[in-house]
Amino acid sequence: MKYDVIIIGAGTAGLTAAIYVQRAGKQALVLEGATYGGQIVNSPEIANYPGFKNISGFEFVTALYEQASALGMEFKNETVTEVTKSDEGFIVTTTVDKYEGASVIIATGAKRRKLNVPGEDEFAGAGVSYCATCDGMFYRKKKTAICGGGNTALDDAVFLSNYCESVTIVHRRDGFRGEPSTLELLRSKENVHFLTDVTVDSLTGEGKLSALNYTDHKTGEKGSLAVDGCFIAVGQVPDTEFVKDIVELDSAGYVIAFEDCRTNIPGIFTAGDCRTKTVRQLTTAAADGTVAALAAVDYVK
Ligand code: NAP
Repeated sequence: MKYDVIIIGAGTAGLTAAIYVQRAGKQALVLEGATYGGQIVNSPEIANYPGFKNISGFEFVTALYEQASALGMEFKNETVTEVTKSDEGFIVTTTVDKYEGASVIIATGAKRRKLNVPGEDEFAGAGVSYCATCDGMFYRKKKTAICGGGNTALDDAVFLSNYCESVTIVHRRDGFRGEPSTLELLRSKENVHFLTDVTVDSLTGEGKLSALNYTDHKTGEKGSLAVDGCFIAVGQVPDTEFVKDIVELDSAGYVIAFEDCRTNIPGIFTAGDCRTKTVRQLTTAAADGTVAALAAVDYVK
């Protein structure tokens, strides 16, 4: 079967695109290697999406998924490995099958960046984690560190501070990118500490993580922080490797597109965190999904 629009990725951008494609009377196939929802599925609380005072990430994406499914979206839990051109459109290859689409929307989002320090891989799952909401409970009443200074790190710190004995926010600068109100909340908590202007040198332990070793930028002194768990939230890398041979990416791997969500290849669109943009929020992911879907629908009509 040939689909009108094949959407790669079932996060907020991809599922919003599916809703708009279906509502335009076209058939969308959504391909997703992991579970639906994307990164926001792990957020315990969303408080900045218009219309919702407070909703969990899981509730939000489940509602999106159900809405798109009710409209007739086809969903397959398969990982896409390649997109190529065909005579009439595009062939999207997964680890399971091949699908033909008249157009494609790349909405694969981004995944957590690694810190790239000795010990990070060795202690992954034994003290090192990239998801506080998934693994935080293992560190109930324990000492934890969270590396990073963006919204993810600050939100994760708030979450961990409710369960852990202590949370130390380890950041390479004094200034934080994350929301000032979250920072203020964290500064008011007795079990939250700040270790700023440092570089993490290594993560060490015997069988499991026990220390985060760092260098202080101002003094040049080396220090060590005793921790049971270290959560890494130092940004993201786009999940676009599989399309690097068909669409133009920037040097960081983001699909190059402006607000019209059009790539350099007619018929291939992109939406959400995997495209070049300055503001990566749920609201902008949903906006991209809308724009990309309507552009794709217009392309295939
Ligand atoms: P981010 O905003 O890019 O922040 C990454 C943080 O990691 C920065 O503080 C950065 O330091 C630091 N960092 C980067 N590379 C590093 C390295 N190699 N070593 C040490 N530190 C490093 O990423 P994010 O927090 O994952 O957020 C991604 C996007 O999602 C943002 O737009 C964010 O606003 C959004 N988001 C929003 C919410 C919300 O609205 N509640 C929640 C989560 C995420 P510097 O500051 O020095 O560059």
